[in-house]
Amino acid sequence: MLREIITVGDPRLRKRSRPVQKVTPEIRALINDMVETMDAANGVGLAAVQVGEMVRLIIVETPEDEDDPTSGKLFVVINPEIVKMGRETEVGAEGCLSVPGYVGEVERATEVVVRGMDRYGKPFHFRPRGFLARVFQHEIDHCNGVLYTDRLVAPDRIWEVKAGEEEQVEAEHAQRAKVSAV
Ligand code: ZN
Repeated sequence: MLREIITVGDPRLRKRSRPVQKVTPEIRALINDMVETMDAANGVGLAAVQVGEMVRLIIVETPEDEDDPTSGKLFVVINPEIVKMGRETEVGAEGCLSVPGYVGEVERATEVVVRGMDRYGKPFHFRPRGFLARVFQHEIDHCNGVLYTDRLVAPDRIWEVKAGEEEQVEAEHAQRAKVSAV
């Protein structure tokens, strides 16, 4: 079922979500709804709070990129936590389905270690890098009531884009950054 994505101004986006105690059929249904909603919105990530559910649950799926084996893969993480943050950082463009019409520059760690449970309740560790690491940091922030606009490299490093293109711009920017880094 498609869910409505809540946007800035909705106070729920500023609250901490609560941990998932048990992976119930309701949580599984919520995961399916989130995947459908993210795909319909062309998003690369979505936190449960963005569809108004105050539980610590995120999904991430970055566009297919032949140089990156972790791209194009759907990650479902329940109670996600960053347990280690790499020292190296990089500035990149970020958009958010809950902040329609804008893209801003944020500095993020290029590598993190994420811990959480998969959709079957099985604990796992994962070490996303680059753009994927950025998306994980962004989504985990949502679970704590933090938006990327809180983390802009400077207050004026945010600009308008056509609504609905926030996350494509972000992904394209990531591709370009990689090309220029070669
Ligand atoms: Zn977001």
